[in-house]
Amino acid sequence: MKSFKVPTNQKCFHCTAGCCSDVVIELDYPDEFEDFDNIRWYLYHNNVFVYIEEEDGEDAWHVGFKTLCGALNEDYSCGVYAKRPEICREHSPKDCSEYTGPGAEGPRSDYYDAYFSTAEELDAWLIENELPEMVRPEDEKKEVVFESRVVKKKKKIKG
Ligand code: SF4
Ligand code: SF4
Repeated sequence: MKSFKVPTNQKCFHCTAGCCSDVVIELDYPDEFEDFDNIRWYLYHNNVFVYIEEEDGEDAWHVGFKTLCGALNEDYSCGVYAKRPEICREHSPKDCSEYTGPGAEGPRSDYYDAYFSTAEELDAWLIENELPEMVRPEDEKKEVVFESRVVKKKKKIKG
């Protein structure tokens, strides 16, 4: 994991509380077609993203949902600071993926090994990483059935 140089006196000053703007859950490591198909399903939904990040020398996959915390105040402070959950207490700006302010070593994109906001981006990554068998092929049979139904319907109308 990359570490960022964070100014000690003005942490988060540039930021509109990105850390309070989504919910992220770690996924089981995907290694079968069904696993990637489920990830595609997540990604077909709006405001869902998936990323890979190296943790302890291994790739960790996460799914995230962009949804603002209801406890966030208009000035981006926490409305329940004294009783904020442990996960909020553990989050440190020095490890923060949002951190791109003065002194940071790199932009947000450097933080992730891969970041997907659409199923198409995931499929492109699978092909790039020589895993084409994990990409769902187009279902030709269904198109044929649909076409034949259309033909039948037209014939019925004519007849
Ligand atoms: S911890 Fe990160 S996301 Fe949260 S306010 Fe600071 S820089 Fe922004
Ligand atoms: S509880 Fe507070 S610190 Fe935690 S996500 Fe909500 S606003 Fe942010």
